[in-house]
Parts: sequence; C-alpha cells; structure tokens
Amino acid sequence: MQKSKTILVTGGAGFIGSHLCKRLLEDGNHVICMDNFFTGSLDNIKELLKNKNFELIDWDIENKIDIKADEIYNLACPASPPHYQFNPVKTVRTSVVGIANMLDIAQKYNAKILQASTSEVYGDPLEHPQKETYWGNVNPIGIRSCYDEGKRCAETLMMDYHRQFGTDIKIIRIFNTYGPNMHPNDGRVVSNFIVQSLKGEDITIYGTGEQTRSFCYVSDLIDGMVKMMNKDNFSGPVNIGNPSERTILNLAEFIIRKTGTNSKIIFKPLPNDDPIKRKPDITLAKENLNWEPKVDTETGIDLTIEYFKKILNL
Ligand code: NAD
Ligand code: UDP
Repeated sequence: MQKSKTILVTGGAGFIGSHLCKRLLEDGNHVICMDNFFTGSLDNIKELLKNKNFELIDWDIENKIDIKADEIYNLACPASPPHYQFNPVKTVRTSVVGIANMLDIAQKYNAKILQASTSEVYGDPLEHPQKETYWGNVNPIGIRSCYDEGKRCAETLMMDYHRQFGTDIKIIRIFNTYGPNMHPNDGRVVSNFIVQSLKGEDITIYGTGEQTRSFCYVSDLIDGMVKMMNKDNFSGPVNIGNPSERTILNLAEFIIRKTGTNSKIIFKPLPNDDPIKRKPDITLAKENLNWEPKVDTETGIDLTIEYFKKILNL
C-alpha cells in the first residue's frame, strides 16, 4: 500500500482535472482541488465533494497562495480554442503567472510538480509524428499564441526552477483528449460533433476536414499522468497521447455512424493557425513510463456518447 499524500490539483473541476481528482482519491490520497470555475463545473466534482478526503478551494492561480502539499498537478487553464481566446491576456497570465505561483509552493514545501503542457507547443508541426526533441513551429503573435506561447513559457519556468532551485518537476505534453465531463459547449471537436449529432444539428467542419488529430481517451491520459508523477529521475517533457491519427472529416463520419444521426455535415472557415496535422510519437512514454493507451476509439467514443446522452437528457 502506498502512503497517503496531500495532492493539490489546479483546474480540478475541469474535464481532465475531475477525472484526476477521482483517481487520486481512489488511490487513498487527500486531494485539494483548486479552481476558479471559468470552464470547470461543480457538476464534475459533485460526487467527490462527499468524500472527506476531498477539499475544494475556489481560487484563481494567478493570485499567490500558500498551501502545503506533497504533489501538485497544474491543470488550471482553459483548453478549448474558443475559451482560451475569449480573454487571451488572462490565458497568458494563467499559464505564466499561475505556474510561477505553483512552482513557488513546490519549491517552499519540496513538493513534486507536474505541468499539464500540450501538443500545441509544437504549433503547426513540420515534423511528423512529433517527438519531444522537436522545438515546434509556433506563431508567436497569432490568435492561438496566448495558449501556445503561454504553455511554452510555463515549460521554460518549470525547467528554470529545476535548474536554478532543484525543484522536482514533471512536464507532460498532452495530445487531444476526450471523454465524459467535457462541457457540452466546450467548443472542441469531439464534444461539438457528438452534441450536434445527438441534437440533430448540422455538424460543423472547419476547413476541408483533411486536417488530422490523434485522440486519446481520458482514462488513458490519467494513467499516464499518475505514472509520470510517480516516476523518479525523469522530468520529461514526455508526450502523452494516442497515436491513432485520423482526419476531422473521418471523425465526423465515425460519430455520425455511432450516433445514427440524420445530421448533415457543413463546412465553415478554418480558423487561423489551425494545425494541419498532429500525431504523438510515444516511444519515450513507452520506454520510461511503461505507458501506452489501451482504450480504442470505438469504445472511447461510445462511452462519451453515453455521457452526453445522459447530461442532455436524450
Ligand atoms: P478544462 O477547460 O475543462 O479545464 C480547465 C480547468 O481549469 C477548469 O476547471 C477551469 O475552470 C480551470 N481554470 C482556468 N483558469 C484558471 C485559473 N486562472 N485559476 C484556477 N483555475 C482555472 O480543460 P481540460 O481539457 O480539462 O484541460 C486541463 C489541462 O490540460 C489544461 O491545462 C490544458 O491546457 C491541458 N491540456 C488538455 C488537452 C485536452 O485535449 N483536453 C490537451 C492538451 C493540454
Ligand atoms: N474543428 C471542427 N469543427 C468543430 C470544432 C473543431 O472542424 O466544431 C476542428 C478544428 O478546426 C481543428 C480540429 O477540429 O482542426 C480539432 O479542434 P479542437 O478545438 O478540438 O482542438 P485543437 O485544434 O486545439 O487541437
């Protein structure tokens, strides 16, 4: 049996954060969930609130706070393009000032800290699939920059605290992840297509739909995150994602088939700087964490459709 730890999860009321808090509680830890509820919701954590080992702090990580923890998972940051572009200055401050505040706590209490970084640090990649050694192709002044550059700077701060102060850091680069607890109005592609299909609305493809993404089911990601936190002498960055790449058009057709909807596909303009292709090379995660995804798209999408049917009362 592992010793119970006190673990701070920022962004714990969000999509990924709520699954992580649940898993850490199941492992017997005391979990402090910190969230400003910008994109997170109480619904995601209502079951967890019944657990005496779960604490909720309504707090914005841009503001300093002193909390003693053994481990910190920093997930606080809107992740969907419409949400992170809603208040881009705030997105940068959350990513940069927020992680600096969390790193100060980690340094003070000698806590391990894991940063939820992103495949967006590779931008519109010229290398395919993307390895951790690739430095990326990011527009520093575009509409995605608040997120991409914010996350890149957060990685810089992580590495500099590590080199300058010896902070025990972990960086994971998360590739597109989906599953229950995504917000129906989140704006990301999997939730949009499923919600549109279930409601019989038009399915909105941006651009031609030939752009690709590689989709990972949330339980696989959570396994990878926990393995990374518990792995000694490995700071990353490490890609965590499912290498099964598909076009967005193919995803739309797949979800139409799975839901049996009569919805029609419509095409809308592709937003600026939308990456053309994305697929993780997960060799490093396999070698260092003995991790690889287990849930296939068929199963993952079925579980996600069930979730949306339930919350939309369909
Ligand atoms: P989400 O929007 O559902 O969750 C983010 C959470 O952070 C929300 O609960 C939100 O209220 C909270 N938050 C935002 N700003 C905050 C602030 N200043 N202070 C405190 N809380 C704040 O998104 P998600 O998909 O669960 O993403 C979680 C993390 O994983 C994010 O850091 C995101 O960048 C990263 N990530 C996610 C994906 C993905 O595919 N889901 C991919 C790459 C990286
Ligand atoms: N996308 C789409 N229709 C939607 C939402 C997204 O065609 O309703 C596209 C989007 O332009 C991008 C891909 O799907 O090419 C993935 O978008 P998402 O916002 O989920 O994630 P990200 O672009 O951050 O990888």
